Amino acid sequence: MLAGMWICIRCHTEFPEFTGGAEANLDSFGLHFMCPVCGRRNRLRSLGEDREGFLRLEQIDEPE
Ligand SMILES: [Zn+2]
Repeated sequence: MLAGMWICIRCHTEFPEFTGGAEANLDSFGLHFMCPVCGRRNRLRSLGEDREGFLRLEQIDEPE
């Protein structure tokens, strides 16, 4: 399977997991990315590293 897509849960903009302009961050509330379109916080969870050594991050929440 190829790299996953993140989909903003508010505006439904799609971002390729590694290249799409949405950057994962970690703070005291946990892993997330901020949608650059609408500013919505989207929670992520770590799936660990894949075979190429990339850290895979998956969205927790379904789009609204
Ligand atoms: Zn958005």
